[in-house]
Amino acid sequence: MRVFNLINVSTCITGIYGRSLLLFVECKLRPFTCPTCLKSYTRKSNLSRHQRIECGQEKKMVCPICEQRFYYRSEVKNHALNKHGIYLNQLDAIERQMQQ
Ligand SMILES: [Zn+2]
Ligand SMILES: [Zn+2]
Repeated sequence: MRVFNLINVSTCITGIYGRSLLLFVECKLRPFTCPTCLKSYTRKSNLSRHQRIECGQEKKMVCPICEQRFYYRSEVKNHALNKHGIYLNQLDAIERQMQQ
């Protein structure tokens, strides 16, 4: 939906685009748009987090089991639980014991 995003951005920045209620609502719901990749967010804090951690960055968190990469540790946790049925906290504890 890249085209839609572009329209959305111009709506938010210039405020002169068309009368589509949908666009208007979308603009209101997600008024904070990343100038680099045009993703939009509901909160300014979410946008700054995106710019700080996601946008143009490599994924730094790695699943210790399958080495899939993620931006956030919480994503790895969810992934490990859903895909591997493992609580990452348990895994941490095991790793720490092994290092000692
Ligand atoms: Zn971005
Ligand atoms: Zn994995």
